[in-house]
Amino acid sequence: MTRSTKQSEQLYERATRLMPGGVSSPVRAFRSVGGTPVYYREAEGAHFADEDGNRYLDFCMSWGPLILGHAHPAVVEAVCAAARRGLSFGACARPEIELAERVLKGFPSMERVRFVNSGTEAVMTAIRLARGATGRSRILKFEGGYHGHSDALLVKAGSGLATFGTSSSRGVPPGAVSETLVCPLDSQDALDEAFARFGSELAAVIVEPLPANNGLLEQRKEWLQHLRRLTTRHHVLLIFDEVISGFRFGYGGYGDMLGVGADLVTLGKIIGGGMPVGALAGSRAVMDELSPVGDVYQAGTLSGNPVSLAAGCATLDQLADGSVYRELEALGELLDRTLAELGGDLPWLRWRRCGSVFWLHLAEGEPPRAAGAIRPEAAERYNRMHGKLLERGVYLAPSAYEVAFLSAAHTEDDVRTLARELVAVLRQT
Ligand code: PMP
Repeated sequence: MTRSTKQSEQLYERATRLMPGGVSSPVRAFRSVGGTPVYYREAEGAHFADEDGNRYLDFCMSWGPLILGHAHPAVVEAVCAAARRGLSFGACARPEIELAERVLKGFPSMERVRFVNSGTEAVMTAIRLARGATGRSRILKFEGGYHGHSDALLVKAGSGLATFGTSSSRGVPPGAVSETLVCPLDSQDALDEAFARFGSELAAVIVEPLPANNGLLEQRKEWLQHLRRLTTRHHVLLIFDEVISGFRFGYGGYGDMLGVGADLVTLGKIIGGGMPVGALAGSRAVMDELSPVGDVYQAGTLSGNPVSLAAGCATLDQLADGSVYRELEALGELLDRTLAELGGDLPWLRWRRCGSVFWLHLAEGEPPRAAGAIRPEAAERYNRMHGKLLERGVYLAPSAYEVAFLSAAHTEDDVRTLARELVAVLRQT
């Protein structure tokens, strides 16, 4: 079969005359995998149709929010009902309380939450809050961690164990990243060095407890525990960025599941059920540093938007009894088994999976735990494979460094289809 891509091509051509690179967010331009971006027309469950009428099984799922699948009836119903009552109030309204209760129920150690409009905003606010609460300015992040696109976090590592990075984007002045220290993941030595030198100057350490933005760089529990000990000892706030992992593996945070607690948590994606929402949560003492109680400023015209929050509430309600997580784990295990069965003889068919999140690292050996250990040939294989999978009706994220998501809408057959098509394509790649 050769797909027709005429409509997508024409739309993309039109888009490039209107928007930089034709897109609203860069990875969508398919630059690394090549080919024309697929133009989604409509989606339901685990499938979508593009503007040419091709149907695909989706394993990108809007990059994580859609744990229930596309256009889940209960979520769509809640959104429509909320929209009929008003699109935005810019004032106090019941949905804020309803989502706050649901979110805090999943994070028993957190006492207060503030809603914003994206993960980026949540992180940006958490960093400002940590600096305000501690009176310190330096922050530490990890190589390969993505925390949205606020200036202070657009930073790349130097070559030492712990370095003050340089900005990874033009337009970010050196001053904006001069207080941002970068360490490699998976290294206790790097942590020890960073804290020995800068521990008393750090306001916060930010980390995805399950790093999922540069592959799936699952960390050892002991490493996270070590980080927790060091931050506590040096009175540094530990921020778990759970924008992807929050409510993804259970009703709450990945850190709590591991038994490692944070001081602040940032959230997004699932708590908005596919609508724009972000949040940060923490203890009352820290969160009350935010205005209007404290004097760390933060605000938003559309923050606490009633339609977005209704989508979040409807989504969390579907997750509350835990059954979705058990089903997702079973689907994930089926994927492991089927891939091993069909492609066990391919030495470079390697992947890492945690619950409903998986990442293909198409190179021999154990998939890496640190950004520096990702093998270039793995990305090259992924890039060659991507377009061929599209031809077979399977849509993976258009970048080798992005993870894939299973949702409650995927069936066992969908998972078998993924494994079968993947292995078939890899045998020709
Ligand atoms: N933090 C993490 C861990 C993320 O995965 C992302 C987005 N992928 C962000 C922050 C930024 O979120 P948003 O794209 O909603 O601004």
